[in-house]
Amino acid sequence: MPHFRRVGDDLYFLSSTRPAYRLSAEEGEVLARMDGKLTVSDIGRACGDVTGIVERLVGAGLVVLAPRNLTVPSGAPRLLVIEPHMDDAALSVGGSLLHRIGRCNISILAVVRESNYTSYIRLRRDYLDIGHITKLRHAESELAARILGADFRCLDWADAPNRLLPGEHWTVDALPEIGRATEAFIHGPIYPDDVVQLAAELEAVVSDVAPDELWVPLAVGDHIDHRLTHEAALLIWPMLRSSRPGLKLCFYEDVPYASEANVGEALTRLKSRGLLLHRICEPIADTYSRKLDAVGTYASQFKRDVIQERIRTSATRAASGENTALCEVRYEVVGPAGEGRCLSSANAALRPNMHASVERFARTNVRASALSVIVLPSGHLGEWPKDLAALRAAFSCTTITILIARNVVWQLAGRGGGVTPVVVQPLPASTAGLILRLAWEVLRHPARPRVWVHWSAVVEGRSFKSTVIRKLLSLGQSIQVRTLVDFTAAIPARAEAMRD
Ligand SMILES: [Zn+2]
Repeated sequence: MPHFRRVGDDLYFLSSTRPAYRLSAEEGEVLARMDGKLTVSDIGRACGDVTGIVERLVGAGLVVLAPRNLTVPSGAPRLLVIEPHMDDAALSVGGSLLHRIGRCNISILAVVRESNYTSYIRLRRDYLDIGHITKLRHAESELAARILGADFRCLDWADAPNRLLPGEHWTVDALPEIGRATEAFIHGPIYPDDVVQLAAELEAVVSDVAPDELWVPLAVGDHIDHRLTHEAALLIWPMLRSSRPGLKLCFYEDVPYASEANVGEALTRLKSRGLLLHRICEPIADTYSRKLDAVGTYASQFKRDVIQERIRTSATRAASGENTALCEVRYEVVGPAGEGRCLSSANAALRPNMHASVERFARTNVRASALSVIVLPSGHLGEWPKDLAALRAAFSCTTITILIARNVVWQLAGRGGGVTPVVVQPLPASTAGLILRLAWEVLRHPARPRVWVHWSAVVEGRSFKSTVIRKLLSLGQSIQVRTLVDFTAAIPARAEAMRD
């Protein structure tokens, strides 16, 4: 397993300084020969019967056995599974893939490559090296894919938290702040530009793999990367459908996030976009423990016994009403291909009245010479360079001023965005100072259009200070948004271009 470092006879898990396991001399010798290529009997020929030793190493979670040299009959069908993160395919459809081992050419494509997420983040451990963790996660995925009888490839996207703040700027001390902003970002709106870009990349992989079946996430659980992948697949589906007659598309339930309610909502959304779906419930009791082996390779992400509980709950829920105990569920598209447009309105986080107010704001202020973006303490900036570029394209203003709360300033790190001129001014940390600064801003530039970014907190309170801030927010030409993309995605010209 890629998470262990061997020092002498001791094995250490990730960055831990306490050995997780001490190898006996014979275990050490067998382990040294395990190079990912030799079989157990190959090693046995050199060292005598090693079955017991291998069983011990497997039982201790240090080693996992994978099939060797899978041969798939020529002409076997091709299946491409697209996963937002390295682990979603094993978690969501691992049991179903195991049924197809040796009968089907399986490819798993991960969208996200770069990530510094591990379970250590929750423990606030100083284990954040993005280069190292990205490599580790890749090694985990190669191993999981091997167990699942698939080949593994990945695109070059950064994990959502690293799109918010590039990995090299993360520090242990900033983790609580980063965590709060990440939480808001992950559940916030997806970027229409990202959908278009990812759709083009997925299309290139589909052309290369030429699958007979394409499995993509249903995107329940509200994670921005899952929604992005789902939307990108939907965007190319009508074109794929006409250029590759016979290609099947299935949406798989995201494990362990799927619940009765959010699956129902996701299906309703797909139906409202003109898609007819057929539910396929695949019993996985026979492959269940092997699925857990595949999932277990992602030890940087979760403890096997914790995730095991959640997988069992998902599989049991999926099987309810069926004549079996454990299932994985996917929905095959039958009938028409639906509408292949990039629906920014499919962003759950976009408020329904947003389009009308953005349109009004854009019409009124298209010729303004300056624009202020005011990010309040509860706000987050998301992928702000993209938003600033969109603002510059939509408005003729020469200067964009960003007034930004001190606890959000770190989100500017490392990304110039190539958009100039932008003036950045930090806001005072105290609420009284903040109010005075905002009042000064409003009085000094009464006619300047302002975009206020705030997630909640400051302005939703009942205190006197919150009331004053709410009043300031509504003065002059202003618009309030939870994230900048809430605003930029709805700028009429941009929304139009997305639909073309
Ligand atoms: Zn995921």
